[in-house]
Amino acid sequence: MPVGDRGHLKTIIDRERLMRLKTCAACHRPFNLGDPVVLACGAWEGPPQLIHENEAIYDKESNAYVERKCFSAKKGRL
Ligand SMILES: [Zn+2]
Repeated sequence: MPVGDRGHLKTIIDRERLMRLKTCAACHRPFNLGDPVVLACGAWEGPPQLIHENEAIYDKESNAYVERKCFSAKKGRL
């Protein structure tokens, strides 16, 4: 079952996620109800996490979202 028309990597902050996540791994600011978020890889340790959509870039090569800072660092090395 698709979660919606935004795809499996995109969602919005609902009440349950708000309680569970508290802050964004990318900018460390608290989430607000209804914020658009994406599951992204980043500079933090561990698995992909939900961060604000505008702080992530979609990487077509890996078919996944990457934190903006992390993405540019990766491209800079190429
Ligand atoms: Zn954020």
